[in-house]
Amino acid sequence: MSDIQNQIRIQKLARAHIRTLKPYSSARDEYEGKVGVFLDANENALGSVAEGNFNRYPDPHQRELKVELAKIKGVEPEQIFLGNGSDEAIDLLFRVFCEPKEDHVLLLPPTYGMYQVSADINQVKTVHVPLNEDFTLPVGEIIASIRPGTKMIFICSPNNPTGNSFSLTQIAMILKRTQGLVVVDEAYIDFSDKSSATTLLEEYPNLVVLQTFSKAWGMANLRLGMAYAHPEIIQLINKVKPPYNVNGLTQEKGLEAVRNVAKKEAFVKTLNSSRAVLRSQLEALEPIQVVYPSDANFLLTQLPEASAVYDKLIQEQVIVRNRSKVTLCEDCLRISVGTMEENQSFLQALKQVLGVEEIEEKAL
Ligand code: PMP
Repeated sequence: MSDIQNQIRIQKLARAHIRTLKPYSSARDEYEGKVGVFLDANENALGSVAEGNFNRYPDPHQRELKVELAKIKGVEPEQIFLGNGSDEAIDLLFRVFCEPKEDHVLLLPPTYGMYQVSADINQVKTVHVPLNEDFTLPVGEIIASIRPGTKMIFICSPNNPTGNSFSLTQIAMILKRTQGLVVVDEAYIDFSDKSSATTLLEEYPNLVVLQTFSKAWGMANLRLGMAYAHPEIIQLINKVKPPYNVNGLTQEKGLEAVRNVAKKEAFVKTLNSSRAVLRSQLEALEPIQVVYPSDANFLLTQLPEASAVYDKLIQEQVIVRNRSKVTLCEDCLRISVGTMEENQSFLQALKQVLGVEEIEEKAL
């Protein structure tokens, strides 16, 4: 397909009123220079009440950050959307592509809960195709479930809460078979040694890859998430986003982070080795039934009476995520890898709750 054909295909996928929407033009859109007497945006020229220079609106297009991010991600700046967390990108995708009460999306439970919540907020139907029992991708069933109104298929890889990743070959099979978008959520990709689906962007104009600064980059508080996709998709999302959706401090700190990839890699190394230690310590506890393989910064573990254990851990002021009620995750808790001290506090509390005195090697 030529790129013009790709553009037409993407335009057709978008909701009709978004296609023709004339977006808000901000004061900073109309004059892009950095030097001048700025009396266009009704800001307070005198300064900010809080310490710092916060009186001017930030760049609505986050140009500098996109240029630097593009370099480390092997994409073009035009292929990047930046949002107030990747949760904003998820919501915007629904608003741009899904006609409420008409279109639907495919979700593959157990998976990240916000896809369902965003669908519900936007009154978009969801069709659930559960993962296989071993948490692998049911490619045949996913493809068989695709209908003309299937606007998006959400694939979280590495998957939250199961921790496993899906192969790019399988993802490509799905991309080939749908006219809709395939959204690959890679919030945890930095903890994995598998390659990113961004490597498929050139070939598949219907691919959207989500990533975030909230996990490996350690910047959850600043709210910075990204979507990588064909420039036509990015333009459509940009039309709908609030003009200044990423604040200036976040843009500045995002730039600082992108220029220090080594620090992120050091975090990943430490967290991944702590994950391995935590895994073996958990596996050594008699009541623990399974600790699932993980390409992310958390472990999913199955144990008897998980909900009761969860409640008792809370009494010890140790908070993990109870996933017991989630499809295929009966009696499962999800534990984020913390600092060495936090991991040991968790293990101490868990041993106490389970009535296990010492970590003993299970009989081989
Ligand atoms: N995707 C997945 C799979 C997640 O687990 C999370 C956060 N828990 C997000 C997206 C949202 O991340 P952000 O902080 O960028 O909104």
